[in-house]
Amino acid sequence: MTLRHLAGRVWLFPGDPDPFAVRPTVAVVADDGGSVIVDAGQSPAHAREVRAAVAAAGLPQPRWLVYTHHHWDHVWGACAWPGVEIVGHESAVPLLRAEASRPWSHRYLREQVRENPRLGHSFRARALAVDSWDGFAVLPPTRTFAEELTLPTGVVVRHVGGRHAPDSTVVRVPDSGVLLLGDCWYPPPAHLRTPEDGPDLALAASLLDDDLAWFVSAHDEPLPLAEARAALAGG
Ligand SMILES: [Zn+2]
Repeated sequence: MTLRHLAGRVWLFPGDPDPFAVRPTVAVVADDGGSVIVDAGQSPAHAREVRAAVAAAGLPQPRWLVYTHHHWDHVWGACAWPGVEIVGHESAVPLLRAEASRPWSHRYLREQVRENPRLGHSFRARALAVDSWDGFAVLPPTRTFAEELTLPTGVVVRHVGGRHAPDSTVVRVPDSGVLLLGDCWYPPPAHLRTPEDGPDLALAASLLDDDLAWFVSAHDEPLPLAEARAALAGG
């Protein structure tokens, strides 16, 4: 798979439309001072595919890796991005330290699903995503922020929180008119969801802005501004 150019200096490595694959879109913001990768990929194998695509496209080597939130499918590839600074919201640190201390293995995943069948969807996808645990590690961010942070490349990360994940962060590339939303407006993950939980359309609507041309959610096709507005008006 190759990178798809979205706008300006933003490129996308499209996710897998099969919901059982749990493979989100990874974004690359090209910059001569070092590119910014937005989300790590769901596994070291996924991260290596994106790295190969970045090299094949001739884009500058990544220097920063931004987490939109701490969920596994956005961070488990981090250990396959050597030499980057990992940027994430401060509330992701204790969450990811706890995840890092768990004895991940295929056997552990099976045992956890037996104890809590609601984990099945996520944990079966993890078992498929990771073929070897050698060298695998969950990495907390090394550079954190409370509200907003502008990286030297002009990329702006801003905490929005919400029901999907407490650390949800959106990433704005002002010169390219792109906002990367991660999963911020999606309902909570299946094992934490209640029947009342739906997409947070109010949060999504609050992020629409005339200075932006593209809205990119991690598990959906990118939407131009007019389509995003129409989708939210219709919802
Ligand atoms: Zn998520």
